[in-house]
Order: sequence, then C-alpha cells, then structure tokens
Amino acid sequence: MKSIVFATNNAHKLQELREIVGERFEILSLNDIDCHDDIPETCPTIEGNAEQKARYIHEHYGYDCFSDDTCLEIDALGGEPGVYSARYAGEGHDSEANMRKVLAKMEGVPMSARTARFRTAVALILDGELHLFDGRVEGHILTEKHGNSGFGYDPIFCPDEGDGRSFAQMEANEKNAISHRGRAVKKLVAFLASIA
Ligand code: IMP
Repeated sequence: MKSIVFATNNAHKLQELREIVGERFEILSLNDIDCHDDIPETCPTIEGNAEQKARYIHEHYGYDCFSDDTCLEIDALGGEPGVYSARYAGEGHDSEANMRKVLAKMEGVPMSARTARFRTAVALILDGELHLFDGRVEGHILTEKHGNSGFGYDPIFCPDEGDGRSFAQMEANEKNAISHRGRAVKKLVAFLASIA
C-alpha cells in the first residue's frame, strides 16, 4: 500500500480523510513521521498555503505529501474570515471565539444575505511535482449554533444541499459527501487512482 503524508495532526481531518480514502492508501500524519516543526503558512491564498506546507514536508522529510487549506467566505462580511479563518478571533485558533465573532458581526443580517461557502485547496507534491485540487460547498450562516459534531465553524454553517441541518448536526459520512474538503479530496483520490 502506498504511503503518503497528510501534512496535519488534526485528528478530525485525519479521520475524515481516512474514511474517504478507505483502504487504498496509508495516510501518515505529521506525528507518524516524527515531524514537530512549525511549518510556515504565510501565503495570502489557501492554494499558496497548501502548496507551501506540502513542499516543506517533501523537501525536509522526503515523503510524497499533500496538504489542505480551507477558508470560510461570508459574503456579508466581504469574504471574511477568508484565509484568516483559523485565527479570526486571535492567535488562539479558538473555534468557539471564532464563531462568536462571526455571529456578533452578523447580528441583524437577514437570512437571505447570510450566504457563505467553504473552499478547500489540496496541494499534492508527488515526485517533486505540484498537483492542485479544489472543492467548495455553498450555504449560509445560521443565527446560532446547532449540533455538536464536526469541528471549526460546523455548528453555524448550513449547506444548501442538505435538509436544513448544520454540518455539526450531520454524521461524518453525510458531511463528507458534500463538503468542501470531501470534494477536493475526491479529486485527489481520483487522480491518485488514475496513476496507480
Ligand atoms: P484549515 O486551513 O483546514 O486549518 O482551516 C482553517 C479554519 O477553517 C479552521 O479554523 C477550521 O476550524 C475551519 N475549518 C476547516 N475545515 C472546516 C470544516 O470542515 N468545518 C468547519 N470549519 C472548518
């Protein structure tokens, strides 16, 4: 089985990814390869950040590697939090604080104007070559949190394609079927299958 590093230690993402990729590839985390570096993520775009992280692992550890970067874009906030989604409320990467900030800034915004989307960029460095994959899901920002599953902004994001439940009210497989990351990763997996 081919081993590929997924440049993350986020247990939620690893589990989501392993569910999608199934038995086909062994997905190694940063911990699995004993990488505890503070990997630079300094680009103004999610595509740039994903590439930067994957190249870093390839160059320093020699593995084929992919990395993802995700942003939440809220139209009523001019595209915020965007590339700053993880640290919208400060460097603490605190999801609860991030959601509180979004909800406070959107107080009084009517449902019709609460449109938003998650976008994911996945960068794969395979034999030194870059391959980029993208995924997105359209939806809207709820006025309060709903559900306890998932992570990040899931409790306040309701996808258009669902039945009115937030991402945090869905089972993992339901979310993966329509999510930004699920879609980007499906493209990654299809590519890997085509060259296997
Ligand atoms: P990252 O680039 O994947 O680390 O994501 C940046 C920010 O978006 C983090 O604050 C995450 O919590 C949030 N985020 C990423 N993916 C998701 C998701 O599937 N649902 C909710 N929030 C997410």
